[in-house]
Amino acid sequence: MATFQGIIVRSLAITSCTLLALLGNIAQSGEGLAGKLTAVPFTDVVIADEFWAPRLETNRKVTIPFEFKKCEETGRIENFEIAAGKKKGAFRGRLPFNDTDPYKIIEGASYSLSLHPDPELDKYLDELIARIAAAQEQDGYLYTGRTIDPNGPVKWMGPKRWSNLRMSHELYNSGHLYEAAVAHYQATDKRSLLDVAIKNADLLVHTFGPDKIRDVPGHQVVELGLAKLYGVTGNEKYLRLAKFFLDERGRADGRKLYGPYSQDHKPIVKQDEAVGHAVRATYMYSGIADVAALTGDADYVKAIDRIWENVVTKKLYLTGGVGARHKGEAFGDNYELPNATAYNETCAAIGNAMWNHRLFLLHGDAKYIDVLERILYNGFLAGVSLSGDKFFYPNPLESDGKYKFNKGSATRQPWFGCSCCPTNVVRFLPSLGGYVYARSGDTLYVNLFVAGSGTFKPANNTVKLRQDTRYPWDGDIKIIVEPAHPAEFTIGVRIPGWARGEPVPSDLYKYMKKSDDKVTLKVNGEAVPLDMDKGFARIGRNWKKGDVVQLNLPMPIRRVFCNKKVKDNVGKVALERGPIVYCAEEVDNGSNVRRLVLSADVRIKPEYRADLLGGVCVIKGWVRSWHREQQHVYPAKQDFVAIPYYAWSHRGAGEMAVWLPRYLGFPEAKTQ
Ligand SMILES: [Zn+2]
Repeated sequence: MATFQGIIVRSLAITSCTLLALLGNIAQSGEGLAGKLTAVPFTDVVIADEFWAPRLETNRKVTIPFEFKKCEETGRIENFEIAAGKKKGAFRGRLPFNDTDPYKIIEGASYSLSLHPDPELDKYLDELIARIAAAQEQDGYLYTGRTIDPNGPVKWMGPKRWSNLRMSHELYNSGHLYEAAVAHYQATDKRSLLDVAIKNADLLVHTFGPDKIRDVPGHQVVELGLAKLYGVTGNEKYLRLAKFFLDERGRADGRKLYGPYSQDHKPIVKQDEAVGHAVRATYMYSGIADVAALTGDADYVKAIDRIWENVVTKKLYLTGGVGARHKGEAFGDNYELPNATAYNETCAAIGNAMWNHRLFLLHGDAKYIDVLERILYNGFLAGVSLSGDKFFYPNPLESDGKYKFNKGSATRQPWFGCSCCPTNVVRFLPSLGGYVYARSGDTLYVNLFVAGSGTFKPANNTVKLRQDTRYPWDGDIKIIVEPAHPAEFTIGVRIPGWARGEPVPSDLYKYMKKSDDKVTLKVNGEAVPLDMDKGFARIGRNWKKGDVVQLNLPMPIRRVFCNKKVKDNVGKVALERGPIVYCAEEVDNGSNVRRLVLSADVRIKPEYRADLLGGVCVIKGWVRSWHREQQHVYPAKQDFVAIPYYAWSHRGAGEMAVWLPRYLGFPEAKTQ
């Protein structure tokens, strides 16, 4: 059992020479070349903390069975049986990509299985996979809407195969099928779904290419799936096809372009701004990173570096969310970051996390983990309820408690007609362990602070790093080093941007003031200097079993200002503590939350509340507000409580705001 990243790098070592020859004119570059860092696979990581471990358990016990049940109730599974001719009926549901929901839950269930054996779930997957396999057509085609009725009424399907790739999602279905198949194979060693995926991918190889159909998927993800399929099979034709789909984008020779909505407005190596549908975009950027990692294509790396720069300087919400607009589920213009109408699809947060992790592995720079961490604890995590069975599709940073931003509701919903977000959460959470550690040669990287352990396997040794911490509520992190035998190596401990006075790696956000408290690092009780390289404090020495690294990241409450070019945040301030972004809710502060004034003189302090929202550190104190009496308004003081943004909307729909006015004279504070 090994994760994608581990396999990819091994495959690269075996095949890079032949691959480079086959793909032709691929520049070999130093910076950004493949395999710079390898993630420690999640199967070698134990998560045993008080923050994530309960969420993984909820995902396993609640979310996976809940979502499979929803798929059964809504016909998403029966569609496979109807397509196989085992049941009679029409396609159930309105969207041609409903097939992907079971695929994505299989992927999540597989990750979960490899962390936690579960014979009942294993058996359920076997039966479900048999149903999926039976729906596959003879030549490998798998798309239940068309197989059930080639002339059927399924939206966007197109009159014949591949005839409406802009919207049909035929290739999107394939991409999620491959990701599920690879995960299931890795978790169980069973080829049942992998063989279905290979048969389907062979059909795509036979159908698409320079001298065959020259078209691209309207919704990317097949590129990621093909790269994974290449990872487990070592068959270069899948990687070549992934690269073909990417290279074909934005090239008008022989077909009409789909435009910026599908990032099909210009060739990917010429793109420099994040545009269009945010999930399509972040999946595509992740796919570009995968193909770049495997081929060493420097132009690919330059393109995603440019686009990343655009996102972190102009299009990233404080929560790590991306995709400002409901219309088109899309990125907005530069600095277009509205709060109440922010779309910030949960899927886009996941795509953004996947992309940043891949960039980290390419460049070895902690700034990408800074963005990833911001997404994990904030923009992504808000997408699922503490109970594991309710979800946000959009994730705004402000609510009046009435606007039904969440597909007809002002709070989380159990399911949606298009249920991409719930089924993305269920597969992303159990893959979390794979983001915590990485290795490059004899340097072991600690990216994220999660109690538990990671096992590294450098040449001729095995090293376990055990973390003991109450992060994200406490900034004390103890790392116990356990090499199988003493050895010289380097441990790179990430010093988060927020602890260095830099909320994001750009000037989009800044802290009101730098903390006076200094980050400290000790080895076996003795202070060591912070030898910083790309955001990591490096400690090189001869390590022996039982050595202890102690990191202290001071966690004062930090007040954040936004770049003035973001209209919605002018004159406002947000609160952070450690990696957590805070918000104020009506249930704690009364109505008119958005008029509370966090002026520089207000006094606030953190307080851990074990009894609230599964255990959270809240921010308490008083703020200024305007008291209205008949025709007059008077300045007043009032009690204040802010909670972590991820935990909002658990106590009924109501007002919420991340950004609050910071001047009593702020006109909106007075008149809203
Ligand atoms: Zn979604």
